[in-house]
Amino acid sequence: MANYYEDNADLRFYVEKGIDWAPLYEHTQLLGDVYENLDEAKETWADTLNLIGEFSANEIGPHQRELDTQHNVLENGDVVFGDRINTIFEQLKELGVHGLCMPEQLGGMNAPLITYFLSAELMARGDVSVMTHHGFHGGMALAMLMFSVDEGTTEVDIANKQLVSTRFQQQAEEIVAGEAWGCMDITEPDAGSDMAALRTIGEQDADGNWTVSGTKMFITSGNGRYHFVIARTEPETQGDPETGLKGLSFFLVETYSFDDEGNKVWHVTLDKVEDKLGHHASPTVMLTFDKTPAHLIGERGDGFRLMLLLMNNARIGVGFESLGLIENAIDLAKKYAAERPSMGKTIDKHEMIADYIDEMEVDAKAIRALGVRAAYYEELAQRLKLQAKFMAEDGSEEEAKLLKKSNKLKWKARKVTPLLKYYASEKAVEYGQRCIQIHGGVGYTTEYGAEKLLRDAMVLPIYEGTSQIQSLMAMKDNLLWIMGNSGTFAKQLAEAGFKSRFDRDALTRDVNKIKLYAMRAQVHLMRWILSEKLGDKPVTAWGSALGEFDPKVDFSPAMLHAEHLAKLLTDAAIASELHRQAQKWPERRDLCTAFVERALPRSRYQLDLIRTTGHRILRQLHGDDAVEGAPAADREVA
Ligand SMILES: Cc1cc2nc3c(=O)[nH]c(=O)nc-3n(C[C@H](O)[C@H](O)[C@H](O)COP(=O)(O)OP(=O)(O)OC[C@H]3O[C@@H](n4cnc5c(N)ncnc54)[C@H](O)[C@@H]3O)c2cc1C
Repeated sequence: MANYYEDNADLRFYVEKGIDWAPLYEHTQLLGDVYENLDEAKETWADTLNLIGEFSANEIGPHQRELDTQHNVLENGDVVFGDRINTIFEQLKELGVHGLCMPEQLGGMNAPLITYFLSAELMARGDVSVMTHHGFHGGMALAMLMFSVDEGTTEVDIANKQLVSTRFQQQAEEIVAGEAWGCMDITEPDAGSDMAALRTIGEQDADGNWTVSGTKMFITSGNGRYHFVIARTEPETQGDPETGLKGLSFFLVETYSFDDEGNKVWHVTLDKVEDKLGHHASPTVMLTFDKTPAHLIGERGDGFRLMLLLMNNARIGVGFESLGLIENAIDLAKKYAAERPSMGKTIDKHEMIADYIDEMEVDAKAIRALGVRAAYYEELAQRLKLQAKFMAEDGSEEEAKLLKKSNKLKWKARKVTPLLKYYASEKAVEYGQRCIQIHGGVGYTTEYGAEKLLRDAMVLPIYEGTSQIQSLMAMKDNLLWIMGNSGTFAKQLAEAGFKSRFDRDALTRDVNKIKLYAMRAQVHLMRWILSEKLGDKPVTAWGSALGEFDPKVDFSPAMLHAEHLAKLLTDAAIASELHRQAQKWPERRDLCTAFVERALPRSRYQLDLIRTTGHRILRQLHGDDAVEGAPAADREVA
């Protein structure tokens, strides 16, 4: 029987040995004794992934065409799902996987979040709409728990491993049971990437009750019962680049409740289900709140921070969603290429097609390596924070130690998450298109399913923060870190330079060359940005310019090259991770070599682009001053 887990040796490598499960086990078992020991837990989690792999390969994948053609429609104010997606969610309810990562007491399995991400890949390989809608079940229940913990409305009895109470318990249990789902309402008609422009308002009456009013659009699974809504509670901040984000608050809103006879009483109007290019089984909804009752989460003005908590996980989720789609593209491309004869042999034996398929396979593994890293750092950071909250005394040394460790991991997660979201989603589009190309003419018809993949892929670089926004985030985080840590950066630069020339191992030299190119690109951009303030001062003196530095004005050259830099940083991050794996597990060395073979020349190219282009555009946008003092173009990269 087909099984997306069993047929994927690279994914199983992580479950069997690539992931250090012990710390995750320790943290996930703080509430409830679900498993005898680590081995039993690992076996159960692997079995669950196996079950999802089998389900996806047999109950989702073969029905892609139906899922694609049965559109969801708006009828009498509610969304009517297509038959196939309904059937699949009935089956998922039976399987009981919505609560995979929830505590046992809320109906879950106490599994680490990373098992959810791996299951997301398996489901997305079947169909991305199904994976997305599934994500708005367990993911929302977990977010309810996370937000309640964050605001201090969850009580636990650590000595007895018991969850005493949590604010959204009934809602979370309903979702885990498969009776409801949630959604995340950020985007509005006039505000997508620019959240400072959001207009939906949150208002409090004299009795302290909150309502929200406004229109949200493009809300995935927006017909769900529970909405996390970001709304403005300080109206004067709307559109202000300085304060626009600080005036936002976070709410839980119920779409409908039930009257005594069990009829739905609506509190939100569903205006429209978008007619879109792909993701046809997943409803994308426009909706209106009109003085709709809402529950404030956390403090007033805390909305942007809380949204980011949700968004970090969601971005990692899109990384794994993209990976599932790429695996699907590889399945189709390989199958067709092995059957289609041309000029005396099947097309997979033609050099160019063999190279295409190899690149897709290597990249899928590279994305998984980055994804597992991002997921692991993020999860451990969150769990250490919980441990500090519940198990260490306020203000104690123990608490400070745990929080320090958590912040360190959080920073590592923050460095790789935008790269994962960027790279995986862009590759999904590229490989969706390549899958069509490998199919030739039939790829352009609906018969083989290749065109569906491209249509489905094209939203991945758009939602949960566009590729441009991910690139800007990665660029800003990295350059600001360098300014504040110029001594450490100079040391890293010297080390990569040394190893790239003198290490005895050729692979280590090449990995360090990629890292060096990424660092040199940053040096070039920093010199350009700081040219007026620092002249030719050495790297170690950059920190002294922090005080007189305005990122909004001074970052122009780096903003222009943010995507080129993101590509370089991604190659460096993946090469480092695969190299780490190769050192620990020799059988991973071939993968690292295969990745580096292509990553090295493309990194050289990105560095060249950063060093030699951009002056003309900046002059057009900002005048001659923008390029004055720019470091001379320098094509010497090796
Ligand atoms: C199928 C689908 C499902 C979605 N699901 C949800 C959901 O569940 N919840 C939700 O809240 N939203 C959802 N969205 C909305 C999605 O997150 C937004 O479309 C996205 O954030 C981009 O916002 P926008 O459409 O307003 O584009 P804009 O922000 O107007 O951007 C347009 C273009 O300009 C670029 N751009 C913008 N600012 C900059 C800048 N400073 N520098 C460089 N380039 C820039 C963008 O990258 C993009 O290429 C969904 C969208 C789709 C299509």
